[in-house]
Amino acid sequence: MSRRSRGSNKWEVRASTLARNTHNLIRNIVENLQVEPNPSKQLIALSVGDPTTFGNLNPPEQVLQAVHESVEWHISRGYAPAKGHAEARQAVAEYSAHQGNVTADDVILCSGCSHAIELAISVIADSGQNVLVPRPGFMIYKTIAEGLGIEIKYYRLLPDEQWKVDLEDLENQIDDHTAAIVVINPSNPCGSVYSKDHLLEILDIASRNHVPIIADEIYEHFVFSNYEFTALSTLSQDVPILTCSGLTKRFLVPGWRMGWIVIHDRQNIFQKEVREGLAQLANRILGPNTLIQRALPSILKYTPQSFFDEVVLFIENQAKLAYEELRRAPGLRPVMPQGAMYMMIEVKMSMFPEFKNELQFVERLVSEQSVFCLPGQCFEYPNFMRIVLTVPEDILKEACLRIATFCKEHIVSREKLKEIDTNFVLPSETQVICDNGLTRVA
Ligand SMILES: *Cc1c(COP(=O)(O)O)cnc(C)c1O
Repeated sequence: MSRRSRGSNKWEVRASTLARNTHNLIRNIVENLQVEPNPSKQLIALSVGDPTTFGNLNPPEQVLQAVHESVEWHISRGYAPAKGHAEARQAVAEYSAHQGNVTADDVILCSGCSHAIELAISVIADSGQNVLVPRPGFMIYKTIAEGLGIEIKYYRLLPDEQWKVDLEDLENQIDDHTAAIVVINPSNPCGSVYSKDHLLEILDIASRNHVPIIADEIYEHFVFSNYEFTALSTLSQDVPILTCSGLTKRFLVPGWRMGWIVIHDRQNIFQKEVREGLAQLANRILGPNTLIQRALPSILKYTPQSFFDEVVLFIENQAKLAYEELRRAPGLRPVMPQGAMYMMIEVKMSMFPEFKNELQFVERLVSEQSVFCLPGQCFEYPNFMRIVLTVPEDILKEACLRIATFCKEHIVSREKLKEIDTNFVLPSETQVICDNGLTRVA
């Protein structure tokens, strides 16, 4: 159907279907919040998933040096093949050796991991098909898929089992139109890290139903002490996997826009078509920026392990700090993460009856305490909020104290609670009366 006829006598320019159906849920919700911070308190944004915001976390000297050198080379200024320079893809293949047997031919360089995800989805899903995504999970999947007419279906994660996949729900969501299952490990926003056994259970479902997997491993290796990261691809016998990763989170350079797809396909199920499809789709942007491509071999080779260890240790300590502070805040239940850089916190809305939902809770938290947490609705997961753990320690501590104060000031009194819900009993051993006569759970 043509929208304009020749000889039209007036202007009629509309945005395309793709443009109109592309939405960023987080931006939409955040922009519509009534967020006027308390002018007497400095605003602390625990909402932005960008580790560079506060300037306290920086890439190591070797990484900056590699880019400095790249700027000087004339070869860093020209076009590369759409899927990336061979040396850069070779470097990613070596860096990804923990994922299994990877060659440069298995690597497609992309403009950030989001672009890797876009290519992965668009190479295996057509309009009318669906892709299964964890809830709560990273929302870029919805942003990318819906404009393309690909349906996003959610499978449940279990907050009481450290956000493991509800396997029964996952399998129930699969239908004849399911083109892929997305597995995010370690997870944004949950911070969960899946064990080998759990990954095998997920693979078993994919294998029995013949559904390929998109493994979002942008937080690969980003795990706290006593946890182990396992690349999903190492465990797969047959399920073809497109692993998406990049420099963004681990090297603390989101703005550099360097990501990649690694193709894992032991049984050659994708055959030539999917591989070539990816190479063709890469042509849509003529490949990612070559300044970083040329620096990539040095970045991946010379970044010392001690840099990664220090960043992860910092985040782990931040997680412990926030967990200890917020665990004692009445009406909240933080879920201790095992990796990545976020923490999910349950807001027990029944204990804050003055707020209709967690959206109102975070709004008032901004207007009274100038602390901004991302409401769970941004992940289509109400009654929770997400905080980022990458902010400086003193700021995180201050933010947690303010959140706790806010909770104490707004938690319903025990008498009121009984009126609202006659069945409500606070577990006696954890029940504490605060200074102001209100209850809190220790
Ligand atoms: C940040 C993030 C990405 C996107 O990374 P970019 O390289 O900035 O595009 C993808 N997946 C998850 C789970 C993320 O948290």
